[in-house]
Amino acid sequence: MKTEYIILKEASLNNNCPECYSTQDMVLSFKQKKMKSKFLVTTKSNLIESIYCNKCENQIFPGQWTTDIERVYDYHKKTISQPSGKIRFTWFFYSILFLILLVAAGAYIYLYHPNIIGISDLN
Ligand SMILES: [Zn+2]
Repeated sequence: MKTEYIILKEASLNNNCPECYSTQDMVLSFKQKKMKSKFLVTTKSNLIESIYCNKCENQIFPGQWTTDIERVYDYHKKTISQPSGKIRFTWFFYSILFLILLVAAGAYIYLYHPNIIGISDLN
């Protein structure tokens, strides 16, 4: 399984970074987790929020957020809708399924209705 993140929203914050006090380099992002395997693509319904400071290269965890950061976070959170989780089959899954059906149909015709494909019992 391969994990990817879909970025739903990214916003730069003008608040002070709790680590380095820079006011320009924090980015708030809302992401959704997506997992891929050969047969399935699953997207999770939970929202992953994170704040990252590009200046000091620190992830700013919710415990470190100031009330200002929380306010901006709440504001941005309201602008995005709660993602829905879903499962989708890949084209690979469908091609395998198609092949299986094709083989099954072929076997069925060959065994029970050989005349359709021109193999008839002439006796
Ligand atoms: Zn910082």
